[in-house]
Amino acid sequence: MPTKTQTNRETIEFADDPADLLDGYRRFRAGRYREQSDLYRRLRNEQSPSTMVLACADSRADPSMIFDAAPGELFVVRNVAALVPPFDESPGFHGVSAAVEFAVTMLKVKHILVMGHGGCGGVAASLSAAQDRPVGRFIAPWVELTAAARARVLADPALTTDDHRREALEHGAVGQSIENLMTFPFVRDAVGAAALTLSGAWFSIGKGELHWRDPATGAFSLIEA
Ligand SMILES: [Zn+2]
Repeated sequence: MPTKTQTNRETIEFADDPADLLDGYRRFRAGRYREQSDLYRRLRNEQSPSTMVLACADSRADPSMIFDAAPGELFVVRNVAALVPPFDESPGFHGVSAAVEFAVTMLKVKHILVMGHGGCGGVAASLSAAQDRPVGRFIAPWVELTAAARARVLADPALTTDDHRREALEHGAVGQSIENLMTFPFVRDAVGAAALTLSGAWFSIGKGELHWRDPATGAFSLIEA
């Protein structure tokens, strides 16, 4: 059976039961963990990452892999479409907000990156919902977080195909999440005190390319590899 290290093989077999996950765990122990065991030991009691990444749960756009990060380097939160809700004090299970609060007020991260990606199913769901197509009980209200960005995309006559609209909303949703981050008082204060910066990026899965968001224009440009 081909192994995970043969990553360019089309025949690679992914884990489809827990035993396969355990094979991966054994490779981790023999490879990466062995190389980084000192680092893991040093990190056993505390973490002090300076970067938080908010990314999509999509299996193909893993921030730790894309940024070649070491354990302890990135504080990562992933959800459907890499969305951040606005500051909301109503009772509820505010998982993303709790993570942002922890990162900013306890870990005191210096940087928050929101990273969207190409072919995002969550963004596609947002566009489907706008056409009254069913997208799932929990997904539908969640992707409404993109509503303002979606309205701009749907009103843009230059976006003539579904693919163009989806990519534009993948970009727009990143900007929307950054805007929403600024509604949290502790984020706004840290940004105002120059203790925190917010950035956006978008990852092309097929090309393995990262595009960075210009905060002034909201446009994304390719990062030289
Ligand atoms: Zn996605």
